[in-house]
Amino acid sequence: MLSLRGVGKSYGCNRVLKDFNLDIQRGEVVTLIGPSGSGKTTALRCMNFLEEYDEGEVYIGGALLGYETMPNGSRRRASERAISEVRAAAAMVFQQFNLWPHMRVIDNVTAPLTLVKGMRPDTARERAMRVLDRVGLAAKANSYPSQLSGGQQQRVGIARALAVEPQVMLMDEPTSALDPELVDEVLEVIQSLAREHMTMVMVTHEMGFAAKVSDRVAFMEGGRVVECGPPQQLFSDPVSERLRAFLRTWL
Ligand code: ATP
Repeated sequence: MLSLRGVGKSYGCNRVLKDFNLDIQRGEVVTLIGPSGSGKTTALRCMNFLEEYDEGEVYIGGALLGYETMPNGSRRRASERAISEVRAAAAMVFQQFNLWPHMRVIDNVTAPLTLVKGMRPDTARERAMRVLDRVGLAAKANSYPSQLSGGQQQRVGIARALAVEPQVMLMDEPTSALDPELVDEVLEVIQSLAREHMTMVMVTHEMGFAAKVSDRVAFMEGGRVVECGPPQQLFSDPVSERLRAFLRTWL
């Protein structure tokens, strides 16, 4: 469903991703863990071309993301239209929610539908109310983000991502900006999506949650996946010394 093959990404001479490989099946929840600076967020952002990768390929539902292959086998950046079409299949939930502060909750959710997907306003509104209800926030549709708690704002962020009916949800440390008492309400929404077999890739430092919600956990270090497997195996019987050392810091 989502496939990263030999993906590389540099910022200047800092090579942040190196031969990054990961295949995510439909309905699977995969969590990226690893030390700070190992490239987790960059890998996630490459999955919908918020970061442009320099090497390798990212496929979403079989479509190459960000580039087009020329008849001579070389590649060039795809048109903005082609990029946004493929990108729409992978919706991002941001650490800092990234809601538009001057827009009501309902408008935050409908904007991507009307502006990007060209949906009629009344159809978009209907869908937005459905997803807001899904995250328990239909009653807050007319509030502004500043009138909501952090947990509620993040649930709006999730609703906004869900509204575009993506093939995969990408979540970048969705609870790390929240006060501890607000974390659970967001984790519960994510867990309910997992139960419904929503395909998700999540970067998290919440090891307990990663263990509970993931089908597979991928441990990253130095810009590549070092070890990947079901959480019970990865957490209780790590193969690499690097993962063992990383897990010790969490015990
Ligand atoms: P953390 O757990 O601390 O969030 P991470 O594993 O998600 O870290 P990234 O945020 O992907 O790591 O960063 C990997 C490396 O890339 C770091 O060295 C970081 O400084 C660098 N980096 C990330 N974004 C940029 C950017 N926009 N410009 C330059 N360097 C960047």
